[in-house]
Amino acid sequence: MQERDWRPESLTAQGLGWVDASTQAINPPIHMSSTFLRTPDYGTERAYIRDQNPAFEQAEALLAKLEGGAAAALLASGMAAATSVFMALKPGDHVVAPQLMYWSLRNWLLTYATEWGIEVTLVDMRDLAALRQAMRPGKTQLVWIETPGNPLWSVTDIAAAARIAHAAGARLAVDSTVATPVFTQPLKLGADIVMHSATKYLNGHSDLCAGALVTKEKDAAWERIIQVRYQLGAIPGSVDAWLLLRGMRSLFPRVRQQAATALTLAQRLAQHPAISDVLYPGLPGFPGHEIAKAQMQGGFGGMLSVRVKAGTEAAKATAARVGLWQRATSLGGTESLIEHRASIEGPGSPVPGDLLRLSVGLEDAGDLYDDLDQALKGGNALG
Ligand SMILES: *Cc1c(COP(=O)(O)O)cnc(C)c1O
Repeated sequence: MQERDWRPESLTAQGLGWVDASTQAINPPIHMSSTFLRTPDYGTERAYIRDQNPAFEQAEALLAKLEGGAAAALLASGMAAATSVFMALKPGDHVVAPQLMYWSLRNWLLTYATEWGIEVTLVDMRDLAALRQAMRPGKTQLVWIETPGNPLWSVTDIAAAARIAHAAGARLAVDSTVATPVFTQPLKLGADIVMHSATKYLNGHSDLCAGALVTKEKDAAWERIIQVRYQLGAIPGSVDAWLLLRGMRSLFPRVRQQAATALTLAQRLAQHPAISDVLYPGLPGFPGHEIAKAQMQGGFGGMLSVRVKAGTEAAKATAARVGLWQRATSLGGTESLIEHRASIEGPGSPVPGDLLRLSVGLEDAGDLYDDLDQALKGGNALG
């Protein structure tokens, strides 16, 4: 690819268009080596795999480009990416995070992070006054938001959250896993750091586990996060990094199609007599729809949830009856997934029992609707 300001779609389709200098291969080689030769005077471009794996460079450069950041880092998982940001803080530091967010990270914040001396305040991030009130200038180092946020897909105003964080001397980090860089670039809205579970849409094929961070500035806070990754060895393998770049090449058409199907399903399910509520930022009646419209470009993502009118048992029975949707956790793959979220999260989960979380894949929208419809009605048309 000739150097030029190509659009993100073009850059992504070609994985930045890098060509292997030694073979002219248009896909990168995988160097299965944990260590790298030094010159006689001990000079080296790369020293050791835990620090500098060449297999990461192309995916990291592409992610930095897509998010408009100064640098990006691949990590072993979304959780490794998120926890590295918090572990780069110091005991006594205060952070503000959402009440409703990715369940495992919420658990980690309330257990390990708290036990290690990080003070955690959880607030409803849809309520900016509550966020403002939770800030402790001089003590709050980080505000963490997730938008759209699991599993109600609540929308947080990134630009407003950034202003509130910065006014108190804190940084803003955004879990943008569900929005993807296709629809939202948080750094351009004022965020300091973006996190992705690359296990989800970035890879898009439900066949690896990885995470990513992108920073606006290569500042001291970023260097500390990179040290955490290096010292803990929170890195994916070379083959997974290669697969991630391969998956990312189709990111734009995949997530645009998934978002279009999700919108169609949300609109149709909102009319379904067995459903009391459809939670999707793309629906005009959804609280946060106006903010989503302003900060998401070209789509509202592929995730939605429905609440089953007849309650918890009926929701579970619906998930038990699907024939095309796959009953599994996770999201962002080519196959559509359905999940009774309260069962997965267990006791203490704030998720309503009548809620089913849907990750929309690449199947035909009519087939997906028909399968849900028969499952809601109690038949089994496909099985
Ligand atoms: C899956 C997920 C994570 C965690 O990512 P892993 O790759 O499973 O560690 C974090 N945030 C969101 C929104 C997720 O969906």
